[in-house]
Amino acid sequence: MNGFYRRYCEAKGVTPDDIKTNDDLEKIPIIPDTTFKQHPSGKDFAYWIAGIFTGDLPKIVVKSANPTFDDVINAFNAAGLKVAYSTGTSGRHSVIPRDKRTFYSFQYAMTKMRLGLVDELGADHSLSLFPRPTKTNLYAGQVMEWQYQSYKDHHCALDVGISADQALRAMTGQDQNESMSQSAKEQMCKVFKNGIAWLERYENTADTVMIFAPPAIFSSFMDALERIGKRFDCGERGTVLTGGGWKTRENERIAADGFRKRIEEMLGIPETHCIDGYGMVEMNAGIITCPEGHYYHLPYTSLRPLVLDESLTPIGYNEWGRFAFLDALAGSYPGFIITGDRVRMFEHCPICDREGPVLDTVIERAPSEEVRGCAEEVRRALEDDG
Ligand SMILES: [Zn+2]
Repeated sequence: MNGFYRRYCEAKGVTPDDIKTNDDLEKIPIIPDTTFKQHPSGKDFAYWIAGIFTGDLPKIVVKSANPTFDDVINAFNAAGLKVAYSTGTSGRHSVIPRDKRTFYSFQYAMTKMRLGLVDELGADHSLSLFPRPTKTNLYAGQVMEWQYQSYKDHHCALDVGISADQALRAMTGQDQNESMSQSAKEQMCKVFKNGIAWLERYENTADTVMIFAPPAIFSSFMDALERIGKRFDCGERGTVLTGGGWKTRENERIAADGFRKRIEEMLGIPETHCIDGYGMVEMNAGIITCPEGHYYHLPYTSLRPLVLDESLTPIGYNEWGRFAFLDALAGSYPGFIITGDRVRMFEHCPICDREGPVLDTVIERAPSEEVRGCAEEVRRALEDDG
């Protein structure tokens, strides 16, 4: 059982008996994603994870008397859980505790969803500009773990054990910043050099290649190509799969269409081979764009998508609002979540004929004050513990 979510539902006056039909789903109390960011440090962090976890926790041993963020997460993962954290572009990491069942359901659902949109497993080789998963508890790394089993030559250019803060800087491209340490800059330089060498390996072959990267890092990678005057002509042998959001350092937004045009120019990969994924550590799904229209197709068989107005009431299709979802696969934590993103949902994709609703091609940040009242109610439920 989950004590805090039960108290929250009681405070809202909603019980399981209230949910009987499909239409009742919207009555399920939803909590803001900031719930998973409000964690204390040290040993208290371990108790906090135990508090948001649904189900029976295995025995957790935190060895250090004054454990770090990663020490605590490693202790839970050593006991068989899959605790992951986000890069947290706002500077706070979201922490989500998955049990194995939730984690594997997530992997399965994600694979099914993606294969309906892009032949991701059909490529011969892949290059990843994400952190190597086995060396980090980062969500972005964990969700890429399968690549090692799927490709003939999978090269992870960021093949280093990195801390949460380093990951945050790398994902937003801050390592390119003047103020960054020399060692961080040298590291990114090496990453790009390895990436170029990897691409050269398949330059004059018929092999198909897949490149995974956050848009900010991939933009920097193309800057690096431009500086040395290097171009590739991958054509339809190449596919670029991005993820992690379109913001760079200093909160600049990378325009997705310009980004795709630049990929065509620098790497010869056509726009229909550029796919973006939208997701978050709190969600057991990946929302992938279709190759034809670049709309984000929602995995509606396991995820009930909602768009909320300012009073957090669902408004349905065609209008801009805050994205929320009811995630049927979240077994080990409450997966009924209000995100920090502003979206517009359509009942059908305007371009392709795949079934189910889609999100518009641009996803923005939503104003944070709208969820403040709701966040306060959740905080009370969490603090009532014991
Ligand atoms: Zn589509």
